[in-house]
Amino acid sequence: MSLSFDPARLNLPRGHFIGGAYVAGADALELTRPSDSQPLAAIPVADAATVDHAVNVATKAQRDSGWGSGTPRDRTRALQKWADLIEAHATELSQLEAVASTRLISQLPGIDVAVTAEQIRFFAEMADKEGGALVPTRDASLGMVMDEPYGVVGAITPWNFPISMAGWKLGPALAAGNAVVLKPSEMTPFATLRMAELSVQAGIPAGLVNVVLGDGRTTGNALTGHPGVGKVSFTGSTAAGSAIMENIARHGVKPMTLELGGKSPQIVFADADLDLAARLIAGSIMFNGGQACVAGSRVVVAAEVADELAARLVALMRPVNPGPSWLAETGYSPAISETQRGRIDSIVQAGIAAGAQALIGGAPMDRPGYFYQPTLLVDVDANNPAVTEEIFGPVLTLQTFTDEAQALALADHPTYGLCAGIYTRDLSRAIRVTRAVQAGTVWVNRYGRSRDHILPTGGYKSSGLGKDLGREAYHANRRSKSVLIDL
Ligand code: NAD
Repeated sequence: MSLSFDPARLNLPRGHFIGGAYVAGADALELTRPSDSQPLAAIPVADAATVDHAVNVATKAQRDSGWGSGTPRDRTRALQKWADLIEAHATELSQLEAVASTRLISQLPGIDVAVTAEQIRFFAEMADKEGGALVPTRDASLGMVMDEPYGVVGAITPWNFPISMAGWKLGPALAAGNAVVLKPSEMTPFATLRMAELSVQAGIPAGLVNVVLGDGRTTGNALTGHPGVGKVSFTGSTAAGSAIMENIARHGVKPMTLELGGKSPQIVFADADLDLAARLIAGSIMFNGGQACVAGSRVVVAAEVADELAARLVALMRPVNPGPSWLAETGYSPAISETQRGRIDSIVQAGIAAGAQALIGGAPMDRPGYFYQPTLLVDVDANNPAVTEEIFGPVLTLQTFTDEAQALALADHPTYGLCAGIYTRDLSRAIRVTRAVQAGTVWVNRYGRSRDHILPTGGYKSSGLGKDLGREAYHANRRSKSVLIDL
């Protein structure tokens, strides 16, 4: 059966999802389909009163259902059932995602949905395996560290991988015993709403998973500043992460995890397998139209192999079947919006004005939707805007080095430190450079996550604070209480 579908026949969920039911709101934001720039739907924007209602519903549900205080294995079972339901509804969720976002229907069931279901299972299994500790004290007293959920976690997700990002937030927060109020990106809310609905069907008590729709300024601010939200979990841009820190500080103090922007280097040494490096570098910058936080957008290559690598990249950076995200044969994604495509182009043009040369690309594509040509910029120095700015599009820059010290200096970004790729056959150098590079994740002779959810993810510098995935994400959703009992 073909994965292609007719977007006009989709039934989009309407309204916020609070306490296990849809709650209507006045249409306030018009959404457009990125693949063909046609109108999609309108969504409401939750104001402070709606967010307050959602947080109160979540607080009561978390307390009254015993979700965080009952048998942890019950959480495991309910979350596993939810993961099964997500997989069983892979087609429906994929369609809801494809129509609004840049994710392709050919990739969604096997990547976004499958990985999300497995991540939820990973966190479900932690619920009854991680706990507090008895700690050494004198015999006349008993020292314990108890750990507990926060109560309500406020989560905010971006538009680039909406299903996966909802999974990153909901899986560990729920497994750790919390309720969640989640604000998805205002551009891509539909699959997240349906996931929330499925959580109730799985037996997760109504009110544990709530979704409020809206923008950052109104809904996001109301959520992060709400006194009933015990912890904030955010994925998005560094600018928004910084605004969230400021907003939280204005309202008090609370813990937060922030997964933010990146401008990750791909360091290619002269002894590297150039075919492998070129394939992975081109794949990383073309995947989802370059709209991935981990996109390896800065190539830093040994001067003696730079021309060979550039020639391979030019050959590989050809968009395969750009087209609507709802057609199975489409292989290349648009930018999410006209604004985003304009931003990509303005940075590319500024880069060219500053001396860069486009070996390929350098302009929007002449077709419906917000497509941008895969672009490779050479002759860039460290101050070129195309090197310094997170473009979030299919744009690579290429810089050359003559020794390892210079490679590391070029790889280092003043602001970001999310990921780095290293290509070499020299094991000692691989480990030396891995240790020296300023990034929260390093991939050697590969580029991209595996499906080992045990590996935490998070940035150095302004790429983030704290970790998602791994044991770290579970523990980030619990807080500890120190107890001393005199016997
Ligand atoms: P964005 O920061 O514009 O928006 C992300 C989310 O935050 C949206 O839901 C938005 O409505 C909300 N938001 C915006 N301002 C806010 C505020 N002041 N208070 C509360 N909420 C606010 O980012 P985007 O354009 O949706 O996504 C792209 C960005 O996300 C890129 O910078 C990318 O690198 C980053 N990202 C990072 C990771 C990671 O794991 N580090 C993963 C995916 C995306």
